[in-house]
Amino acid sequence: MTNPALAAVLNDKETLELRELPLPPIGDDDGLLRIEACGICGSDIAQFRGELAWGHGYPVIPGHEIVGRIDQLGRHAARRWNVQEGDLVTVDPFLACGCCDTCMSGRYINCTNNWGDKQQSYGFIGTEYAPGLWGGYSQYLYLHRNARLYKFPAGVAANQAVLFNTLGGGIRWAVTVPKLGIGDTIVIMTPGQRGLTSVIAAREAGAGKIIVAGRKDSYKMALARELGADVTINFQRENLLERVKEETAGRLADVVLDLTPEATQPVLDAIEIVRPGGTVVLAGSKGARTVAIPTDTLMWKDITLRGVVGVGHREYRQAISIIASGKYPLHRLMTHRFPLREAETAIRTLAGESPVEEPMCIAIEPWLDERQHLQGDMK
Ligand SMILES: [Zn+2]
Repeated sequence: MTNPALAAVLNDKETLELRELPLPPIGDDDGLLRIEACGICGSDIAQFRGELAWGHGYPVIPGHEIVGRIDQLGRHAARRWNVQEGDLVTVDPFLACGCCDTCMSGRYINCTNNWGDKQQSYGFIGTEYAPGLWGGYSQYLYLHRNARLYKFPAGVAANQAVLFNTLGGGIRWAVTVPKLGIGDTIVIMTPGQRGLTSVIAAREAGAGKIIVAGRKDSYKMALARELGADVTINFQRENLLERVKEETAGRLADVVLDLTPEATQPVLDAIEIVRPGGTVVLAGSKGARTVAIPTDTLMWKDITLRGVVGVGHREYRQAISIIASGKYPLHRLMTHRFPLREAETAIRTLAGESPVEEPMCIAIEPWLDERQHLQGDMK
């Protein structure tokens, strides 16, 4: 009899509890992942606070930026996924059905054909659905037959591999969707984790000028420059429009990507600093806040306004290839690691509730407890 999996279960809003869940038997078509690291996404904060617009019920094991090693694998699953036990893989969080009209049009992120007509993703499926191990804040994850896996090349460390999702997001939102190309100017607001991975994506795409705008001169602005930003603008101190004009010889930006959480002014700023015919991409959740958009400006400037969510197949592959290349100091992005029992501290740290910590990317490493225990390092 194997040991059960230890998991941090969100029983209600702001109520996390460590619980043991039995490991399921694995058949021919599914598998079990031993989780090495789970990145914390901004939506984990909203889920924790009970503010997620498309949230599902409790109890649930949060966490959808999952990296681990294949622990058990059915024989059909091994062939279908082309992996073997011991491989380091990540899992696309969206568990689409694969056969509805949405999925067959290639939009599996929007599939609502599973688990009671709801959009379903690892980290959001309730523990009442057997076998319950549907989230990354856990020692093990159930690999459902509809899961889609991506294998990392040998030699990639789990704590860098876990950036696959944030990097994949940067690639899709800064490059794929707005078709950012050689010589183009992009303005990225602001230098959070997705902002910085967008800098890497824009650099890889051959952007001519990468401008990062933020509200203060934090270490994040310096890190943006280190990762490839040409210019950083503090829009509290400087006039954003004037500075963008200056940097583009009056042309304005080809692409503006707004990643600012909650604040709505950046949406209006983006419309102002994008060039006629340019593209504004919105990827920062404003929660329940709404913005009055000057539609005439969109019209007269012939602007494309796009909302984006999630990462596609191509961007995952590109993200993994950038991670494996070792070209960028990605370890600089991974600022905090927490064991499972500190999942709440991890979320609150990412939410900026700590008066001392300045977090960038945070991961929960579910086996850290045991390692610390072995090292006699339990606090
Ligand atoms: Zn579907």
